[in-house]
Amino acid sequence: MDSKYEVVIGLEVHVQLTTKTKIFCGCSKDFGQQPNSQTCPVCLGLPGALPVLNRQVVEDAIKTGLATNCQIAPRSIFARKNYFYPDLPKGYQISQFELPICEHGWLNIETEELGKKRIGITRIHMEEDAGKLLHAAGDSSSVDLNRACTPLLEAVSEPDMRSADEAIAYLKQLHQIVTYLGVCDGNLEEGSFRCDANVSIRPWGQKELGTRAELKNLNSFRFIKQAIEYEVERQIEVLEEGGSVVQETRLFDAEQGVSRSMRGKEEAHDYRYFPDPDLVPVVVADEWVERVRSELPELPAAKLQRYRDDLGLPDYDAGVLCAERPIAEYFEVLVARHANAKLCSNWVMGEVLRSLKEKQIAIADCPVSPELLAGILQRIADNSISGKIAKTVFEEIWQTGKTADQIIEEQGLKQVTDSGAIEAIVDAVIAANQGQFEELKAGKEKLIGFFVGQVMKLSKGKANPGMANQLIKKKISE
Ligand code: ADP
Ligand code: MG
Ligand code: ZN
Repeated sequence: MDSKYEVVIGLEVHVQLTTKTKIFCGCSKDFGQQPNSQTCPVCLGLPGALPVLNRQVVEDAIKTGLATNCQIAPRSIFARKNYFYPDLPKGYQISQFELPICEHGWLNIETEELGKKRIGITRIHMEEDAGKLLHAAGDSSSVDLNRACTPLLEAVSEPDMRSADEAIAYLKQLHQIVTYLGVCDGNLEEGSFRCDANVSIRPWGQKELGTRAELKNLNSFRFIKQAIEYEVERQIEVLEEGGSVVQETRLFDAEQGVSRSMRGKEEAHDYRYFPDPDLVPVVVADEWVERVRSELPELPAAKLQRYRDDLGLPDYDAGVLCAERPIAEYFEVLVARHANAKLCSNWVMGEVLRSLKEKQIAIADCPVSPELLAGILQRIADNSISGKIAKTVFEEIWQTGKTADQIIEEQGLKQVTDSGAIEAIVDAVIAANQGQFEELKAGKEKLIGFFVGQVMKLSKGKANPGMANQLIKKKISE
């Protein structure tokens, strides 16, 4: 990247809410239904139909605002954003403009390159989505209004990010928060969490912001990063060739890895925003805000810190376990039953997540519940089974749903800790490997591993390896 220029990024994120019904009518917002089957006079924009605000949308906006350190406005206003497009039957989108429900928030992010940093959130407002145009082969297109009136929150950041990595760190955190809160399913591909990236560059030291391009059609974190990096290069080239960046909206083409100009960018005044006379101001009493605050779940940042500070887990472990709320919940049930947090973490990050990934199962449906896994860890801790046998037990539980104790009992997997029995195996191993034993006795200490390995093999993994080690050493000095 050219060091002559500083990169400036501000992000607008559309968060589709998980409410049962639409924002201004009672229509269901089920995905994948027959086109136009989830509609009524309100979301079709028929004349005279009046919108009624869905209370759950306000509740979700308050939750999200509190979780992102915003101030919640005691009174906010819906406004009409006027423009013509065939997926918008009313000719305006109901949104919030001058008085949004949430303002002045922030998130702390951390990147390898630039460390910790606070990103400002200008506002989070409520709005309705538009319908969808279906472009068939040939000349005609049709419109599906099932998505019209779907509730969205739009979170607008300050232009505080200085690299694609910072933008991704911010987005991932916001994504994690809305999915932890359960207000959004977080599916980027299906468009439940949509990001527009505003990108500009300016010579280092310049106060004013450069002219920005707005990038759309970014449906994965990877594409967002690619699109921003491409855009920065493109703008640098434009400036270096003596040109100037034009304010425009560009569409990212993931297949080609390039973006193309879609249209010139409108200014806010082009939309002729005005307060929607069909909707009363949204009044949120302090008690409502305080009730929501008291019901917030532990958020990812706080959880991460607790895992590090109170449970003593390494950063890496804490990050993996907190990444998704259901993983953290599984881990917490486990750790409540088995106090060795690091052992719990190793098993969740190892066997559990690996097996789930292999079999494409969500952790909520894991056949080995945290209670059953705690049963395995118990038997490792009291030396009934080795870590290796424990993995076999895990597999068995996965298949049968039995408890660890049942499986250990039925299959005779209990570790051999009877020193007489182990000594007999050690003797047998030495007898079968006389040559190596002489070398070991002569000082080739590396061979001890080989002998322990043979003992484990002969005992089918059941000998206590520590005791085997001791006994072999005893034989050397005999
Ligand atoms: P809209 O894109 O709808 O006109 P705004 O003017 O509020 O909305 O800006 C949207 C986003 O663009 C915000 O996240 C803001 O931080 C960002 N932004 C504004 N100016 C610039 C700029 N010069 N460079 C990069 N980002 C910018
Ligand atoms: Mg924009
Ligand atoms: Zn409707």
